[in-house]
Amino acid sequence: MKIVVAVKRVVDHNVKVRVKADETGVELANAKMSVNPFCEIAIEEAVRLKEKGVASEIIAVSVGTTQAQEQIRSALALGADRGILVETDAKAYPLQVAKILKGIAEQEGAQIVLLGKQAIDDDNNQTGQMLAALMGVGQGTFASEVVVEGDKVNVTREIDGGLQTVALPLPAVITTDLRLNEPRFPKLPNIMAAKKKPLETKTPADFGVDMTSKLETVKVVAPKERSAGVKVASVDELIDKLKNEARVI
Ligand code: AMP
Repeated sequence: MKIVVAVKRVVDHNVKVRVKADETGVELANAKMSVNPFCEIAIEEAVRLKEKGVASEIIAVSVGTTQAQEQIRSALALGADRGILVETDAKAYPLQVAKILKGIAEQEGAQIVLLGKQAIDDDNNQTGQMLAALMGVGQGTFASEVVVEGDKVNVTREIDGGLQTVALPLPAVITTDLRLNEPRFPKLPNIMAAKKKPLETKTPADFGVDMTSKLETVKVVAPKERSAGVKVASVDELIDKLKNEARVI
């Protein structure tokens, strides 16, 4: 069984981003870039399925600039077998990415497409859902457990107030939540070996996808500065402040 894993290059989660002066976005020049954390979980899950003998090949796919090769190489170092970079300088919006992933999943005959539940840069939480709809297959979003049984996959989902398990016929789309697994760190020999693994470069046009989006970012602004908090000495003082200063109770 082939698994396609979608890997997005995003600003590293430890970087405190600054909004650009012209409010068109955030400053990314010289910022450390990494694999989106939820995509790392998706790679780890694919590798575990391969280790269990369920998956035979893992294909890591990224849509982005030539620098996204770095994130594909990270996926290869963690255990993916080969990579596909769909190179574009255009901003990759969920619908365009979903259309490209559909093209790759169908071309490869993938039985599972694993994605992060959301990319931490734009927080869209849309790509997996759009992909499942475009492919006309089932989706298991916010997965905290994935068990393949014959020609179906059981996905346990983290929902408000509990867990829900859905059974999906293969092929299926799965998006990962935080508690699905703890991604491993790549070992040095694997980082070296990843440099020799195949990485193909394609373009959106190869999948008939026009990157022009129907979305326009109007402006990006920083959140309002919050004033510093105060420490209270007792519960009584807290209640007094909530009643008489904040007037919220
Ligand atoms: P989003 O819907 O943008 O929050 O992204 C959800 C997931 O879709 C990410 O965790 C990735 O697995 C995948 N994805 C989104 N954009 C890209 C991209 N440009 N390249 C590869 N995968 C992507």
